[in-house]
Amino acid sequence: MTDFTMNTDADGVATITWDVAAKSMNVMSTEAFGLLSDLVDQALADAAVKGIVITSAKKDFAGGMDLNVIARMRAGGAQAIFDGVMQMHKVLRKIERAGMDPKTLKGAKPIVAALPGTALGIGLELPLSCHRIIAADNPKAKIGLPEIMVGIFPGAGGTTRLSRKLGAMMAAPFLLEGKLSDPKSAKSAGLIDEVVAPEALLARAKEWVLSATDADLVKPWDAKGYKMPGGAPYSAPGFPTFVGASAMVHGKTMGVYPAAKALLAAVYEGSLVPFDVALKIEARHFTSVLMDPSSTAMIRSLFINKEALEKGANRPAAPDQSVKKLGVIGAGMMGAGIAYVSANAGIEVVLIDSTQEAADRGKAHSEGILDKGMKRGKVTAAKKDEVLGRILATTDYAALKGVDLIVEAVFEDPKVKAGVMKQIEAAVDGGTIIASNTSTLPITGLAAATSWPEDFIGIHFFSPVDKMNLVEIIRGRDTKDRAVAKALDFVRQIRKTPIVVNDARFFYANRCIIPYLNEGIRMVAEGVEPALIENAAKLVGMPLGPLQLVDETSIDLGVKIAKATKQAMGSDYPDEAVDKVLFWLADQGRLGRKSKSGFYAYDDKGDRLGLWDGLEARYPLDKAQPSLTDVQHRLLFSQVLEAVRALEEGVLTDIREGDVGAILGWGFAPWSGGPFSWLDIIGAARAVDICRSLTAQFGPRFHAPALLREMAEKGETFYGRFGGERRAA
Ligand code: NAD
Repeated sequence: MTDFTMNTDADGVATITWDVAAKSMNVMSTEAFGLLSDLVDQALADAAVKGIVITSAKKDFAGGMDLNVIARMRAGGAQAIFDGVMQMHKVLRKIERAGMDPKTLKGAKPIVAALPGTALGIGLELPLSCHRIIAADNPKAKIGLPEIMVGIFPGAGGTTRLSRKLGAMMAAPFLLEGKLSDPKSAKSAGLIDEVVAPEALLARAKEWVLSATDADLVKPWDAKGYKMPGGAPYSAPGFPTFVGASAMVHGKTMGVYPAAKALLAAVYEGSLVPFDVALKIEARHFTSVLMDPSSTAMIRSLFINKEALEKGANRPAAPDQSVKKLGVIGAGMMGAGIAYVSANAGIEVVLIDSTQEAADRGKAHSEGILDKGMKRGKVTAAKKDEVLGRILATTDYAALKGVDLIVEAVFEDPKVKAGVMKQIEAAVDGGTIIASNTSTLPITGLAAATSWPEDFIGIHFFSPVDKMNLVEIIRGRDTKDRAVAKALDFVRQIRKTPIVVNDARFFYANRCIIPYLNEGIRMVAEGVEPALIENAAKLVGMPLGPLQLVDETSIDLGVKIAKATKQAMGSDYPDEAVDKVLFWLADQGRLGRKSKSGFYAYDDKGDRLGLWDGLEARYPLDKAQPSLTDVQHRLLFSQVLEAVRALEEGVLTDIREGDVGAILGWGFAPWSGGPFSWLDIIGAARAVDICRSLTAQFGPRFHAPALLREMAEKGETFYGRFGGERRAA
């Protein structure tokens, strides 16, 4: 174990250098923490050492705790987690006190954290325990505590130290929202103490060590008469902050994220007691969060599995297929977005539409995004020119010569798409991979219009392309591995998260989200209070209620999809009740947000006012309203049963993709880790029971799939049975 090494120079300054072998970013492991502790002991015990600088040999300081370690910690049970966390507190407290006499508060050895770049999670909690934090002026560096984003909270003293350092109100954005800052902003916020030129970092750290006085080494909370900045939460000045923070957290999380609540409790309760007791309280809350299945599921899906998919967990073996030059056909909403994200990632783009005006409009979309970036100081004029310089907007298919991937994003009409295929084939060499961004048309059918179906694939982006990180890659019946590898390499280049699914109606994401929307609409028709439907969805962690989501995606799109689905399914079509509501709204020109009228009423600016009261006039409320849980079960099961069916039918071949795709693609309750994680949390047997009851009340769409029933009988979980690995298709 060589994650930390120590060298002491002639002036008596010991430098502890963090450098995890074979990793581009330092991450902390339990063993490394032990090693750090030993080195600090040695330095404190060595009379020749005057002080310590803790730094990194890499361009960054640290990315945080190895989340795989956190995921494993849970296996040891609550006591093991608590003991492990208390051990970390002991080490960090040792650094903080650094041999100080507790009575006189004198005699400590100065310890400085010198951060060359990014410092996240434990990578900031460790510096927070040092006497001074000096960072290199590196505008790309990110400093902060992002734990809340993966369902936990800073549990190595970061919560207690930061709230005592800045006060509850000022610490709130960093703790509760995981806000990250560059070094200069971190300094102005009081997160760190000093920013220096990168080349001066170590010299300045050493200088501080050698000049520090006893008073510099006493943390405010260890000094007599310490008061929390802004007032303790129970005091008159601090109280409103806390009431506000609780309300804000509840408003944002709807109470479904255990970490946010636990964090607030740790800060509040911690502020009532001395610092060391506060650390213990933080450790107890942290343990309870780690023991909550939600945090395990969130870490697994949002960190471990998301990263595995981005790194190509399901990439077929094939030589590097990175895209050098991309063709995009159709410069509308989607094509323009695809052109932007690609050019922004350094790929040359030929953007084709049927008129020069439409192609130019598509390119102007990139200009608009870059201009906004410039206004916010995120994009330079040179960068804007560079990105726009990579996009050629034209009507001329001959410009496609030399492209190695084409993404088609023209109208959702098989005839138009088939016509485009012919034009593409006439312009490019055989072997060029062609992809369609269709959201509803089966890939195998579209491939039939090409001469090389083995090189044809679906690459399904979500709108808006520059914001949505999921890309669904669809293998047609004849698609060969090279095309899949190409699509995956392209998605990696544009830094999005891919899932790979097999061809079927609506693929995966739309297949699951449509039943959710339909269930919401169906309840309106039944006379369920619309506010109950919307709030039930939000209270179970869905970012938008189904009715709001239909308004956002537009009611006419819903009508179009309903008509096409009915035509394809014939007499098996199950959604007549839903269509009545949708068609009625569309007939009145209520098309959703874009027409400033839909399930909701809007003001002239298009801001949502509230649910439209005309709904109730047409669909009077039933006297007996269902319980909140019943509505939530209908909304959740309509999605998760579709996910299970997609797995059962081999459309999905990896439950990791099912979970990550659900959260990134349509915002499926992130606290749950995704549909399969949620089913594992409630258990297959309970899920089957609920299905039985829903089927009896609402019909066969809630019938438990055979796979779920079999798992209930055998007492299996999805992650137990499928092991989180790819399943043979
Ligand atoms: P859009 O109407 O905004 O854009 C389509 C563009 O294609 C238009 O600019 C049009 O001029 C151009 N076009 C039409 N026929 C052409 C031809 N023969 N040659 C060249 N250009 C032609 O549509 P959109 O929303 O960008 O959707 C495009 C595709 O992406 C569709 O297949 C759609 O299903 C799919 N999609 C849409 C969304 C979404 O949210 N809008 C999401 C995922 C996928």
